Amino acid sequence: MSEIRVRFAPSPTGFLHIGGVRTALYNYLFAKKHNGKFILRIEDTDQARFVEGAEQYVEEVLKWCGLEPEESVEKGGDFAPYRQSERKEIYQKYITEILKTEYAYLAFDTPEELEKLRAVAEEQGKVFSYNHEVRNSLNNSLRLSPQEVEEKICEGTPYAVRFKMPEQRILPLQDIIRGKFSIDTSGFDDKVLVKTDGMPTYHFANVVDDHTMKITHVIRGEEWLASLPLHVLLYEAFGWEVPQFAHLPLILKPEGKGKLSKRDGDKFGFPVFPLAWQNKQDGTSSIGYREESYLPQAFVNMLALLGWSPSDNKEILSLEEMIQEFDLEKVHKSGARFNPEKAKWFNHEYILAAEPTELLPFFQEVLKEKNIPIDEVKDLRIISLLKERVNFVKEIWDNGSFFWIRPLEYNEKSMKKAIKEDSKEVINQLITGFESLNFDEKTLHDYIHDFVEKNGSGFGKVMQPLRIALVGDLKGPDIPIIMEILGKDESLERLKILYSKI
Ligand code: GLU
Repeated sequence: MSEIRVRFAPSPTGFLHIGGVRTALYNYLFAKKHNGKFILRIEDTDQARFVEGAEQYVEEVLKWCGLEPEESVEKGGDFAPYRQSERKEIYQKYITEILKTEYAYLAFDTPEELEKLRAVAEEQGKVFSYNHEVRNSLNNSLRLSPQEVEEKICEGTPYAVRFKMPEQRILPLQDIIRGKFSIDTSGFDDKVLVKTDGMPTYHFANVVDDHTMKITHVIRGEEWLASLPLHVLLYEAFGWEVPQFAHLPLILKPEGKGKLSKRDGDKFGFPVFPLAWQNKQDGTSSIGYREESYLPQAFVNMLALLGWSPSDNKEILSLEEMIQEFDLEKVHKSGARFNPEKAKWFNHEYILAAEPTELLPFFQEVLKEKNIPIDEVKDLRIISLLKERVNFVKEIWDNGSFFWIRPLEYNEKSMKKAIKEDSKEVINQLITGFESLNFDEKTLHDYIHDFVEKNGSGFGKVMQPLRIALVGDLKGPDIPIIMEILGKDESLERLKILYSKI
């Protein structure tokens, strides 16, 4: 069998949302599983809807997710260029070729003529369709004589190239996920293949590219299923071998109905995009998984299971395991409901399982933002101490900022609970006792326990004021560890400050 080649083919008409990333991921997994190639092609024929930065965004997303293509605009490859706007000459060759067949014709209809036809249909409560019923009476090369056509071309009359959809043909189709089905082509219109400006439309460029780039499997979103008959017919028109198709289920809103959209994310406060972005043209922006402190591995794992499950229903899989297990035939037919809480769960599981050193770079990013100097040994200790309590790396800061910032105020409620009449004296005695101690966890632990026993007033009476002094609140990890990390000078300073305030 020839080498498996798949492509991810986004259009830079907007920023890639998580559905698009999942399409890239399934392409990647399938390619890797079969020792094939994963290709990134930029489908930018629709220049009017071009969004600045959207192409670079795709490259950055794939890098962040660890899904790097073998061939792309950036990497190059044997089938370059990988940006459709740079492939005009290739399309030109195939436009000439398809015009020699029965499958395509020139359409000279002006926008005004078409508008009129639409308006007339609307008046009759219908929708105008440029199809087999009307095409023979319109301003195109099917109706005009060869001389008339020649004249129009010589005069420079603009024309589009349209596909001549076969009338009443039952077309058998096949999809890896959906199986076999057939469709009556009469219901389709004669799609434009080449616009009046000479630019091919998505359908034409997409099929020409898939063929010339030797794509063996087209794995893409369900929204493209409606284009499948036209694409299969285009292969037929050229006499090319048809690749295999797999149309992936939609990612649905958390409620389960309708496609997940940016608005759902805004409404419920979860990201719908992998990375945060800002659209300079219209001022819109969005949050992203990366900026919300998700680990890329957790994000990718979560996405992989939106529409596919491995045979043993295992939920935590490394990219390598996903590659081994992935099977397009096991991708679900029905939509996958997005669950923002489950996304957090994945991140939590990854943080739990990760070595502190793996989390260090992410955490140091957070520290940098806070202008906190990096101290690898200290940072690693705090990560291992707090990682079990958090869903996100940035929450390590929320739970442990007192390690760097001395409490300036104390939580009022906790103060009321912790500070009793004799607290001042307890603090005073502790300060004296700690002064002569070695500040390691074990010594501190033993000293505090002896102190509680001798003092006879109960654990809480000693520990709670101590915790208030160190943390500013009644929370945080074990006190001896906190004190060891803070060190003697800082710990005593914090005790003295509380002493002076009560
Ligand atoms: N350019 C299309 C998109 O933006 C690609 C569809 C396909 O993969 O054929 O999704």
